[in-house]
Amino acid sequence: MPRAQPAVDVTVVGGGIAGSALAGKLAAHGLDVLVLEKSLLFRDRVRGETLMPWGVAEARRLGLEETLLRAGGSYAGAMVACGDGVSYAQAGDTGIDLSTAIPGIPGPLNVGHPDASTALLEHAAASGAHLVREAQNIRVHPGEPGAVTYEAAGERHQVRSRMIVGADGRHSTTRRQAGISLTTSTPRTYCAGLLLGGLPWPTGENAAATEGDAHYLAFPRRSGLVRTYVFWAAARGNQLRGPDAVQRYLGLLKELPLPAGCDPLSAIPKGPCAVLPMNDSWIGTGVNIPGLVLIGDAAGWSDPLIGQGLSIALRDARSVAEALTADRNWPPDIFHPYHAERSERMRRLRISAHIATELRCTFSDEGRRRRRSWNRTAQRDVRLSGPLLGNLAGPETVPAEAFDASNIGRIIAFGHR
Ligand SMILES: Cc1cc2nc3c(=O)[nH]c(=O)nc-3n(C[C@H](O)[C@H](O)[C@H](O)COP(=O)(O)OP(=O)(O)OC[C@H]3O[C@@H](n4cnc5c(N)ncnc54)[C@H](O)[C@@H]3O)c2cc1C
Repeated sequence: MPRAQPAVDVTVVGGGIAGSALAGKLAAHGLDVLVLEKSLLFRDRVRGETLMPWGVAEARRLGLEETLLRAGGSYAGAMVACGDGVSYAQAGDTGIDLSTAIPGIPGPLNVGHPDASTALLEHAAASGAHLVREAQNIRVHPGEPGAVTYEAAGERHQVRSRMIVGADGRHSTTRRQAGISLTTSTPRTYCAGLLLGGLPWPTGENAAATEGDAHYLAFPRRSGLVRTYVFWAAARGNQLRGPDAVQRYLGLLKELPLPAGCDPLSAIPKGPCAVLPMNDSWIGTGVNIPGLVLIGDAAGWSDPLIGQGLSIALRDARSVAEALTADRNWPPDIFHPYHAERSERMRRLRISAHIATELRCTFSDEGRRRRRSWNRTAQRDVRLSGPLLGNLAGPETVPAEAFDASNIGRIIAFGHR
């Protein structure tokens, strides 16, 4: 028999970015919140480490910006976009100012994913959430009220819970147990990521470049560490399979335009090198299970090429927190506004990821033509720049026409002769 625990208002399964942000907010509003996190310590899983300006705005609204800065976070006020024959030094002179995307937000915030997760979970606990780490074999039984059973420290527990939140990431067991199906798109690219030390990378400057048949992104932190990712065409599959993945990754990076003095072959790897297919996923519209809601990656993710997942997680946390604290009666359609807003937000981001892939990760003459023409014209036409600008300021800030099929067609056609 599981040991019965006192009932709680909300059980959050997964104490990562989304779950901890939500738990902290709810606990601060006086709700009884239990967080079940399966890991004992957060480790580097090669996840998101730059929070876009609209995500910083969400963090600020949740009261978490300082927490992320104290966790080692620092702002990148500029983006150096080089490649296609333009060196880092040449492009650096005309770096893109990221501090103007949202007035009052200094730019994207770069922070280690394990550091951010740890800090947000500690913040949730300090706000009054009950925390169980190394929670195993969680079973969710949504209902009115629902219940959750789990194992911790060798004992099985049962807790009645008015609301269950699935915040357990991409491979969400909450989603699976609730019978919610996930649709995934075909991978557009593959991406490998590695955290590097020992490089004199300029802090405060994120970087992106497409050269030859690879694209890279780099997010330096004030500690001197740089999170790097390299992308290549999906048709090539996992080209780093094997024991020398780190060396081959560094070899790929060396072929790309980097800041002066940054030789990847002399860098110090500071974490694992993981390779992942880049795609989007989503759950059906109209999913409404009384007593249960999914947030963050568990509810479907955005292609990491466009770096939106952390911002999405914080927006989800804020939306669900606002719903649960506005009216303690929790009517059956309580999450209708959240689901509707999220569905449109993710639709726009899927289009944005498609366009970003066509622009940055199409390694052909057509791709190079598209990049050149788009770079020349996009600044003058918000419909052309909009799908990517929305990644900085938030997808809802862009005119809806920017996501129309005809506009997408216009952007793709830039590559045609
Ligand atoms: C290669 C790559 C690069 C990325 N780059 C960026 C980027 O630059 N910017 C950006 O914004 N986003 C990026 N993302 C996306 C971002 O990392 C995620 O969208 C974000 O971490 C989602 O937060 P989450 O809280 O939903 O999930 P997670 O951060 O994965 O947290 C889920 C938590 O649930 C816990 N958990 C899992 N299963 C269980 C269980 N059964 N029981 C209890 N606990 C469980 C996990 O231990 C974890 O702590 C990237 C993703 C990838 C893969």
